Amino acid sequence: MEELKSIIRDIPDFPKAGIIFKDITPLLGNPKHFRKTIKWFEDSVEDLKIDKILGAEARGFILAATVAYKLKAGFIPARKPKKLPYKTISQSFALEYGTDSFEIHIDSIAKGENVLIVDDVLATGGTAEALAKLVEQLGGNVIGFRFLIELSFLNGKSKISKYDVKSLITY
Ligand code: AMP
Repeated sequence: MEELKSIIRDIPDFPKAGIIFKDITPLLGNPKHFRKTIKWFEDSVEDLKIDKILGAEARGFILAATVAYKLKAGFIPARKPKKLPYKTISQSFALEYGTDSFEIHIDSIAKGENVLIVDDVLATGGTAEALAKLVEQLGGNVIGFRFLIELSFLNGKSKISKYDVKSLITY
């Protein structure tokens, strides 16, 4: 854990003054640490029955798609507006730095499917809450959230407190 923490790079004032950006690219680029990270995601879901894993662009794709492959689940991309080619549903949210919205395809989740949401960082929780709403709009069941990093001082967990939430590294 300390080893993983030490390989995540703090970038002060990116993308805006006052934000300390957690740069996970050194972790992704290190085979041992990348494998260890994905293994934690696998182990953390124990015997949950997961049909699909949802990840938001861009860094969320990397972790969510890799974990989906390992767990033999499907992968759902949540994208910024107007990026997905087919019909979409949309949900806006407030970020630690600004506001935005995410979209998913209307046929990406069937009613009753169990969906795990995977992302790199839980900060204020706005993104996570919006992603859960997208899943639920389509009748999916949010079975939980897994994050590589939780910035606990931003208290994002309070926005998704009714779900099963776990993070590998907490600051
Ligand atoms: P939030 O909606 O505030 O929980 O922000 C979470 C999303 O923004 C995640 O998808 C992260 O990729 C990104 N994010 C927010 N804060 C940071 C940070 N300090 N370092 C890296 N990524 C962040």
